Amino acid sequence: MGGETVQFINGQFVKGTSGRTFDNLSPETGRLVSVVHEASRQDVDAAVKAARAAVDGPWGRMPLARRCELLHAVADEINARFDDFLEAEIADTGKPRSLASHLDIPRGAANFKIFADVVKNVPSEFFQFDTPDGAGALNYALRVPKGVVAVVCPWNLPLLLMTWKVGPALACGNAVVVKPSEETPSTATLLGEVMNKVGIPAGVYNVVHGFGPDSAGEFLTSHPGVNAITFTGETRTGEAIMKAAATGIRNISLELGGKNPAIVFADADLDAAIEGTLRSAFANCGQVCLGTERVYVQRPLFEAFVARLKAGAEALKIGPSSDPATTLGPLISQEHRAKVLSYYKKAMDEGATLVTGGGVPDMPGDLANGCWVQPTIWTGLPDEAAVVREEVFGPCCHIAPFDTEEEVVARANDTPYGLGCALWTRDLARAHRVAAAVNVGLTWVNSWFLRDLRTPFGGARQSGIGREGGVHSLEFYTELRNVCIKL
Ligand code: NAD
Repeated sequence: MGGETVQFINGQFVKGTSGRTFDNLSPETGRLVSVVHEASRQDVDAAVKAARAAVDGPWGRMPLARRCELLHAVADEINARFDDFLEAEIADTGKPRSLASHLDIPRGAANFKIFADVVKNVPSEFFQFDTPDGAGALNYALRVPKGVVAVVCPWNLPLLLMTWKVGPALACGNAVVVKPSEETPSTATLLGEVMNKVGIPAGVYNVVHGFGPDSAGEFLTSHPGVNAITFTGETRTGEAIMKAAATGIRNISLELGGKNPAIVFADADLDAAIEGTLRSAFANCGQVCLGTERVYVQRPLFEAFVARLKAGAEALKIGPSSDPATTLGPLISQEHRAKVLSYYKKAMDEGATLVTGGGVPDMPGDLANGCWVQPTIWTGLPDEAAVVREEVFGPCCHIAPFDTEEEVVARANDTPYGLGCALWTRDLARAHRVAAAVNVGLTWVNSWFLRDLRTPFGGARQSGIGREGGVHSLEFYTELRNVCIKL
């Protein structure tokens, strides 16, 4: 620990030319993880040019089968260096080892294989049609790479969300310039070593470090050599990136914030609903875009549900990533903790009943300098309250009772967001009806975060634009050309 994190440009690890650095601090202890070199506009330009040269050169000319073989090798090498990736991800995020080893790193590797396989196996379209002279014509569609893709990432699932974009982008023949979150720069950088080791040509994968405005994020998204931008992060940042993409009419894919409801009907399997909601509200310390922050429970089950969720939240073990018993890690930063705690205060100011939590746990020794908060549950707030309307992105939820299906669908939809929803019911007809009625991109029935990577992923309304996953990723990462042949 305490090393340096540098850019990865054209296959080389370089400090860059800005002369500026910033500290990457451990969310568990506040100790220095690494000193990160911030990329200058010139560095970002070098990365974009390297990417362009790779698309026009060795990567663009590489046969698809070979490209896909190399991407499988990337996944195998991530798995071979599993512990290095695990340590790097944990150092940056403080998340429990059990979570990072089951979710972040395996999915980070899998994203390269699945999209290589998808791209290899997707057919194109073909139409035959008649012409007045009777000879006819044939149309077929060709998929070609978009070119240089900018990948701008958040900090909550750093390797997983980054490779979710880099995997399909590379499989489709693009080259990428990645701007990881300033909070979590390590695994994206480490992936550069993997790329070199397995023989991915220089320039195909580049990483530049820094912040958003007036830093690497803005330099990259406003660079005219970037052909498409894929972004995961806050809705407000998405708006800034959409504006940047307007210059030069570049394609965008936006995976943004949410305020996701869980709806628990009185006929639900209570054990399953509690287990699922404990995960959806508190996993990754509540820092999951698809996490539940609003729970609606049908009145006959309300008291029992609140009591059981309280018991479950209080049984979570807050602690360091090194302790195998830990189930709740810290928030990502002191800045984010201040934001989450401001919502904890707002909830009380607006008259919430505090069911559990609401503050900061006492942590021993070094951990006292970490970004810890208690898992928190409220009841008793109106639907207009800040913690019922705004994304907190912390380990908390508000639970409200409801009476009818019609009422709860209206309340679930009363939000500018539209990312995810979890429904808990044993009534199959109702599950289908409500799943169709909630205005979100992803609905789970009697589960949460069960992800088949072939399915469309993305949000409605202010939760995003576009769908990624399976063949849907091809829509964004390739340009579809029609070729018409007159016979
Ligand atoms: P953020 O928007 O603050 O930052 C994301 C990235 O954008 C960072 O790399 C940041 O440096 C960069 N950035 C910031 N301003 C920029 C600008 N003006 N131009 C270019 N780049 C800029 O988000 P975050 O705090 O890192 O992540 C948490 C948010 O991400 C939450 O809102 C969460 O819901 C959302 N999220 C959504 C999904 C999804 O799939 N829909 C998944 C995970 C997280």
